[in-house]
Amino acid sequence: MQPKSFTIALAGNPNSGKTTIFNNITGTRQKVGNWPGVTVEKKEGHVRKFGYDVKIIDLPGTYSLTPFSIEEIITRDYILDENPDVVVDIIDASNLERSLYLATQLRELDCKVLFALNMADLSRARGNKIDDDKLSELLAVPVVFTVGNKNEGIDTLLKAALDLADSSFKIPQKRRVKYSNDIEAAISELKSHIENKIVDTFPYNVRWTAIKLLEDDNIVKERVRQKAGASGGDILREAQELRKHLTGRFDDDPQIIMTDERYGFIAGIIKEVLTTSTKERVDISRKVDLVLTNRFLGFPIFIFFIWAIFQLTFTFGEYPKEWIGSGIHLLTGILNGVLPNSILKDLLLNGIIAGVGSVIIFLPNILILFFCIAIFEDTGYMSRAAFLMDKIMHLIGLHGKSFIPMLMGFGCNVPAIMASRTLESEKDRILTVLITPFMSCSAKLPVYIVLAGAFFGPRAGTVIFCIYLFGIILSIATGRFFRSTFLRGDDAPFVMELPPYRVPMMKSLLIHMWDRGKIFLKKMGGIILVGSIVVWVLSTFPRTIEFDSDYETETNKVNASYQAEISNADKITVQALEKQRATAILKISNAQKMEATEKSFLGSLGKLIAPVFAPIGVDWRGGVALLTGFVAKEIVVSTLGVLYSVEEEAESGALKQALLSSEMTPLSALSMMIFVLLYLPCLATIAVIRRETSLKWMMISIVYSTSIAWIMALFAYQGGKAIGLV
Ligand code: GDP
Ligand code: MG
Repeated sequence: MQPKSFTIALAGNPNSGKTTIFNNITGTRQKVGNWPGVTVEKKEGHVRKFGYDVKIIDLPGTYSLTPFSIEEIITRDYILDENPDVVVDIIDASNLERSLYLATQLRELDCKVLFALNMADLSRARGNKIDDDKLSELLAVPVVFTVGNKNEGIDTLLKAALDLADSSFKIPQKRRVKYSNDIEAAISELKSHIENKIVDTFPYNVRWTAIKLLEDDNIVKERVRQKAGASGGDILREAQELRKHLTGRFDDDPQIIMTDERYGFIAGIIKEVLTTSTKERVDISRKVDLVLTNRFLGFPIFIFFIWAIFQLTFTFGEYPKEWIGSGIHLLTGILNGVLPNSILKDLLLNGIIAGVGSVIIFLPNILILFFCIAIFEDTGYMSRAAFLMDKIMHLIGLHGKSFIPMLMGFGCNVPAIMASRTLESEKDRILTVLITPFMSCSAKLPVYIVLAGAFFGPRAGTVIFCIYLFGIILSIATGRFFRSTFLRGDDAPFVMELPPYRVPMMKSLLIHMWDRGKIFLKKMGGIILVGSIVVWVLSTFPRTIEFDSDYETETNKVNASYQAEISNADKITVQALEKQRATAILKISNAQKMEATEKSFLGSLGKLIAPVFAPIGVDWRGGVALLTGFVAKEIVVSTLGVLYSVEEEAESGALKQALLSSEMTPLSALSMMIFVLLYLPCLATIAVIRRETSLKWMMISIVYSTSIAWIMALFAYQGGKAIGLV
């Protein structure tokens, strides 16, 4: 016999532990965050448990089912249209009052609901005692205690959910959320009106529909218009009448009155079921917040944290980076020894290994950066950062919530831009999408590390920090500019959710770090590999070129002159001379290589675009590197790696050496970093911008960022030169 199959949807406030419980049940690995908005996508898992086939859905976190944010719409539509067999409301038991708003709204819908009182440990630690039997009785909903991160009560929860799904449980009419008499009267009147008019196939609970119509819920109005056919207009008119009547009664919008009444109802429940012991533990979170979100201290501390992250990323990352570098150097040496000379060998060593190798060494830096960001997210500090930024964000006319995508932008712009979906107003969304690319993503980090590392020595960490800061400042300026011109509008009011601080789980931090690291590695195998090969081909062909000087004769001359000296020198001098000879020959062959590259297709291309980059102090090699960086920012480094590819005997810090002996100066390096920071986003980001906004805004974003990049780099370079910097 086929096992019965059921669908269980997990709903709940953000940070209530949905994803944790989802992972516990399904075993599927997934991101576990600590601030609102992480779960925008629907996550699905299938398990076979207790003799059933179970499909589990991790719904986006919401505080209510009003259709204001995308999460709320997704969640509500899912429950209404997909009819999951059971909706499990994951309630943060340490924050019962806030969680119950969603709980009562779910209860009003005609679905089977089960409450999971999660974070039972925290709730207990705070000295709270929840009467689960009473809660279950008051709302006629089964209740189970769980501790998500310790996997406690999860089996009980699943069992209870499946029992409920498999039962013919009818929701008792009596214990619904009750409104005041006037509102209840209006609900009944509209309800009977709907029942008279509407066809049998109308899919939603009638009382719920009536309530939503009285709240003037646009989506439900639209549905009624669709599903109720000709009588839809009638029903809506009647609802409008009743709304007018209620507005007159209360001198306020019925929606506000009903929200108030729901809170009143919740306050009543809380009184019944929650007892707080007198020796309530000091709320550590609140104490910590006194400092971290302090009006004066908060911001400097935040900046300090970010600065510390970059120091860590740069200083600690240096060691493993060097190990990988030496490994690649060793590999190149071995391959060089065993492979016969051919164009394929050249491709492998100078194209693929030089290109991919010059980027892959940054894996440790990237992992450290993401580890730090994961700590921010999992401790709950991320939301504090958004809270702190709220005032500054208001300067742009955005609220702190927009800062979360921007912060994510430090990691990668692609998910960051996707995270802007959580914003309610379209203008806010477009504005956030426009300014997010100025948050320097981790792909740009290798470029800074190479340039700052080569030209700024021990001050590299600070220089990179300043670059990041500059990006933030420019994004604020951009925000202001667009807000006061093309994207005028008010910022929507909101409450920034501040979840309690938590000690992050090491496992979760490592998973986060690795998930992002994996993306980086995938890029290595894909786009960076292809990019390196293309750059190599363009820099190697055409093969037949006329050299300015006769390198062969020069080499022979050097050879001969050393040969003469060597033949009448003693044994020890011979060794020294041999070494000198090798260096001299290497120098000639490097010069030849440089010239070959210069006369290659890539060189011609570089020369063609050189005039554009000359004013900002970037030579044709840098120009070509920037051009190829359009595909992915890491390619800037790998292109430099190929363009400056130095002979095999060179040290592992070859690129750095090559840059130092090139025409570049600290000032031109700074100018190039500024350009990299600001110029057009990478291909993947552009694609998401297109998807999240429109073709028009995508074009605006490209043109705007590239012109700003050029102008700023010009200021930096020419300005620096004018005041005598080099
Ligand atoms: P979601 O936003 O609802 O998906 O919440 P998550 O599953 O991402 O959980 C948010 C945080 O709460 C994570 O750091 C979890 O480790 C933590 N967490 C989940 N359940 C519990 C619990 O029962 N007790 C405690 N103390 N922490 C929990
Ligand atoms: Mg989640």
